[in-house]
Amino acid sequence: MDAEQYAERHAELSRELREASYQYYILANPTLSDIDYDLKMREIEEIERLFPELLTPDSPTQHVGTPITTEFTSVAHLERMQSLDNAMDFEELSVWAERLEASLEGAPVGGYLCELKIDGLAIALTYENGRFVRGVTRGDGVVGEDVTNNIKTMPSVPMVLAGEDVPELVEIRGEVFMPVEVFKELNATRAAAGEEPFRNPRNTAAGALRQKDPRITAQRPLTLIVHGFGAWQGGPGVPEAQSAVYDLLAAWGLPVSDRYKVVEDIAAVKEYIAYYGEHRHDPAYEIDGVVVKVNSLAIQRRLGSTSRAPRWAIAFKYPPEEVRTKLLDIKVGV
Ligand code: NAD
Repeated sequence: MDAEQYAERHAELSRELREASYQYYILANPTLSDIDYDLKMREIEEIERLFPELLTPDSPTQHVGTPITTEFTSVAHLERMQSLDNAMDFEELSVWAERLEASLEGAPVGGYLCELKIDGLAIALTYENGRFVRGVTRGDGVVGEDVTNNIKTMPSVPMVLAGEDVPELVEIRGEVFMPVEVFKELNATRAAAGEEPFRNPRNTAAGALRQKDPRITAQRPLTLIVHGFGAWQGGPGVPEAQSAVYDLLAAWGLPVSDRYKVVEDIAAVKEYIAYYGEHRHDPAYEIDGVVVKVNSLAIQRRLGSTSRAPRWAIAFKYPPEEVRTKLLDIKVGV
């Protein structure tokens, strides 16, 4: 292909990815499979590496999510909500870890925290002096949609944090999802009523969370698992490690996963990934990968972020179960 053809392909992919994001995030009715979306994103990134002039601020590679609609009140996040870079095989994971370790110039990483990548929707929950005040979708990462009333229908979201020593303001980040069994029951009820079945738990959760009427959300039970924080003002200081943050969030009564693990090195990260590759259906919810985070918050701060994603974390994506290409095959020690 010559430069002009690459530019045309770039424009075509940009259009397709923007449209796919709108269908996925806003309509909760994807027109592409996740793997097709990811591969198109890889292709456009590769074109931008070859022709950096095509990397303009409006490129899909520079954005998180999709612009929000006017259906909900928009709320600016106190701290930007990012996406995650991804690795599709162990080689890419190793390259990420080597680059990260090299940039630390000999300072120890201090361990990695591995956790399941829940196939749900990102949410930011704001608590002021321990009281839940707001729930906002990720939106485009800068501005999200106010879904507070819908969040209030979720029994797993505490309206008041436990304990006295809580921040004056804290923004908790997590994933809203529909457990697989709940999804199956909901579809059985719909089938009995002669209604069209929902497609999958992720899209059903997305549709349920973005209802204008919270009574409809309440009829489609959603659950939360928290996995991070944004703004944090006053109260106890931010702990030193991601795992210690989870201990604190759990002590406040927030739902933290019991499946995360802190490990020493990338070989052990690969073992965790291989284990859940074989036990993908053990959790009560759907997962699409494993998120690997540097456990030390001091090192996280030192590594920082790009405009779209932190450098201290990566999402290892499992291949779709029906497609197992050589590229995506998982083998320990690759
Ligand atoms: P992502 O889903 O690859 O990763 C980032 C998200 O992971 C975070 O926002 C967070 O909410 C979530 N997450 C889940 N578990 C987590 C954990 N334990 N710790 C931290 N974060 C966790 O990236 P994205 O920007 O949300 O979306 C891009 C992805 O969405 C694509 O790779 C694709 O799979 C899918 N997508 C699909 C379509 C489609 O048409 N099928 C369109 C757009 C996006």
